[in-house]
This record gives sequence, structure tokens and C-alpha cells, in this order.
Amino acid sequence: MNSDDVRRVAASKWDVAVIGAGIAGGVAAAILSGRGRRVLLIERSAWPREKVCGGCLSALAAGALRELGLSSALVGSQPLDHAAWHVGDESLRISAPGGAAVLRSEMDAAIVAEAVARGCTFLPGLSATLLPAQTADSHRVIQLRDTDSVFTISAGAVLSCDGIGGTTLAHEPWADWRITRGAWMGVSTTCDQWPDELDAGTIHMHVGRGGYVGLVGLSGRRVHLAAALDPAVCRTSGGPALLIREILRYCGRADWPAADAVRFRGTGELTRRRDRIGGHRVLAVGDACGYVEPFTGEGMAWAILGARRAVELLPAPDSDWPRQLADEWKSCHRETIVRRQLWCRRLRPVMHHPALAAAGVALGRAAPAVGLYLARQVQGGVA
Ligand SMILES: Cc1cc2nc3c(=O)[nH]c(=O)nc-3n(C[C@H](O)[C@H](O)[C@H](O)COP(=O)(O)OP(=O)(O)OC[C@H]3O[C@@H](n4cnc5c(N)ncnc54)[C@H](O)[C@@H]3O)c2cc1C
Repeated sequence: MNSDDVRRVAASKWDVAVIGAGIAGGVAAAILSGRGRRVLLIERSAWPREKVCGGCLSALAAGALRELGLSSALVGSQPLDHAAWHVGDESLRISAPGGAAVLRSEMDAAIVAEAVARGCTFLPGLSATLLPAQTADSHRVIQLRDTDSVFTISAGAVLSCDGIGGTTLAHEPWADWRITRGAWMGVSTTCDQWPDELDAGTIHMHVGRGGYVGLVGLSGRRVHLAAALDPAVCRTSGGPALLIREILRYCGRADWPAADAVRFRGTGELTRRRDRIGGHRVLAVGDACGYVEPFTGEGMAWAILGARRAVELLPAPDSDWPRQLADEWKSCHRETIVRRQLWCRRLRPVMHHPALAAAGVALGRAAPAVGLYLARQVQGGVA
């Protein structure tokens, strides 16, 4: 940003500062801008950016984007209609119509473009930190930093949509993370080597010792890989590429991708939560509230749903901040999202033990109605 831009942004009065241009932040910014709020959307990364993700939108998440007028996010996506589970020699393929495989850099950029078209001001390449406040303050002050400059802006409300790796809330006394002991980490990559046996339209999930690996075809014959890995096993296996190769081999897939040809992006520990998810004039939204694990492919649906609900709670511009708002957000989040994460929490130990996962797959084959029931539970409504 040049100094004129900095002066203009810093002098403006923002109704809402949305921090993080992932799916929660992009959706919240698009909804609020469409309602005429003065929205500043701040993103730490240079834009567009890739994000560690499997890129599989559930049917309900895709439907929610369409309902919100964000269909442009699905342009170039690959329709998905099946999910296949592989554990050693056991496999199960179930129908899961209406989903879409996306590349997050493309999808998130399309959502942000729509937010900007609706009037949002977007600032990429700036890391945001919320500065401490008093409960009587009529706005929150946010420090923005890039390699050349540091300046502050103020906003009547802040939505912290900065994911599990964000630092926006570092000074908020209520915002400590509780990280589950033994939490796994996430990695992902995209490459052009399409394995012959990979069918388009199906998410393939492979479970092995120390992790599980999802593969999905994208448009243009690209393949996206995402995995959740036990950091300890990852270390002893010689790194993510080698562990992923081991898991894919165990599930009968020929070497893919060539381990040395791929660069992975990684996350910190995935399974975590915050006891409180809001403070004075600030709400955490999306993964910033907490995350379980990716095997049900619901994180984006949770983020969209969270953004939809959080924006409804925000008071009108220039209004007082209701004292109980953070508590209201906590109960709304518990009802709408934590409740939906129940199956993901329940099945997490199964995914960590290939013998249990193989038994689950065998059960799903023997009793297809059980497999379908579980699939419906984990992919339930995004109302
Ligand atoms: C391995 C893996 C596979 C997954 N696969 C799937 C899947 O197939 N389907 C699915 O639905 N979900 C999946 N998920 C989950 C999904 O990626 C997340 O739940 C979802 O991206 C959450 O969106 P979000 O907007 O809350 O956070 P994010 O998408 O993480 O966005 C946060 C944004 O905030 C920015 N940011 C952070 N700190 C700051 C700061 N201080 N200032 C400014 N900006 C900041 C970041 O750069 C980032 O752009 C997967 C996750 C992992 C780890």
C-alpha cells in the first residue's frame, strides 16, 4: 500500500473489520457488504493464496454458497458424487451427490471478488492484531502490519475469521486455545500427475498407520491431495511425503505422487477449541472458534454456517455492543456448529486406528444402510 492508501484506510470509519479472507471471512464480508455495511476485509497473505485443505465442498456447503449469491465460487469446480474409503484391502464406495472439488486459491478469490463487487474494501498482505480495549469503547482498534509499515484502523465490530493459525486475538484475555493432546496436523498439495485409476467425481480417502490421505481430481486433470498426520509418526517416517506414500501403498495405490516432486503446505495441531469465542466488539468465526479434523469434509460448511449466523448477531452500526452478545454467540455456535461436529469427534478415534477404520468399512459393505446413515449424519443440513 502507498502512504495515501494507508491514510485513507486509517481515517475511514469502518462498521465491521473482517480479519482473514478464508471462507468464513469472505462469506461474512460478502453478506455484510451486500447489506450496505462499511466493511474492511484484511488478509495476512499475498493474494490469492493457497490454503491447506482437501478442497471438497459438501453438497450443503455448495448449496449455501449458491443461496448467498456466491455461485461464482463454484466456477471451475469439479462436481463430486461419490466418496470412497480405502483401508488396507477393504474399500467402500458410497453415493454422495451434489458436492464439488475446488482449489481454495480460486474459490476464496472468487468469494472475495464478490465481496468487493458489493462494496467491501479488501487489504491483502497485512497481518492484523486486535489491540486491547475497555468495555466502554465504542470501537476496536486494530494494528495492521506489513513488511514496510505499521498503522492502525478502527471499527465498530470485528469478526476474527483467521483460522487455526491466526494471531489476531493474541492480546484478548478470553481467547486462549485448548489444544487436544495428541492432535494431528494437516498437509496438502496440488499436482498435475493424475493416477490412471483415479476416477473424477469421487473423493478417495485412504487410512493407514499414522494418518489418512484424501485424493480428489480437479478440473484440468490436476489432482489435489490433503492429509491429516500424526506428527510423531511423520517424524519417524522421514516427513509427510514418505508417510503419505506409505499410507497410499498400504491401501494398494501405486506410488503417487513421486515424493520428491511435491511441496506440501502444513498446519499446526488441528484439534482445538476456545472456551469463549467472543469479547467486547469482537466475535471469532469459522476455524477461529475451534476445529476437529478434516475426514468428514465439513470444515467449509461449518465456516459458511458460522459466518451466516455471526453476521445476524451484529448490532446496527453505531449501536452499543450488547453485554451478553459474546454469550449469545457461544450458545448459537454450540447449537448450530458444535452439535454438528459431534460425529466428527466421535469418529476421530476410529480414523486414528486402521483396524477400527477397516472394521467400519467392512460394516458399511455388509450393511450399506449403515454406511449411508453415517454419511448423512456427518453431512447433515447447513440451514
Ligand atoms: C488437511 C485438511 C483438509 C481439509 N479438507 C477439507 C475438505 O475437504 N472440505 C472441507 O469442507 N473442509 C476441509 N478442511 C477444513 C477447512 O479447510 C477449514 O475448516 C476452513 O478453511 C475454515 O475456514 P476459515 O475461513 O475459518 O479459516 P481459513 O480458511 O483458515 O482462513 C483464515 C484466513 O485468515 C488469514 N489470517 C490468519 N491470521 C491473520 C492475521 N493476523 N491477519 C490477517 N489475516 C490472517 C489466513 O491467512 C487465512 O487466509 C480441511 C482442513 C485441513 C487442515
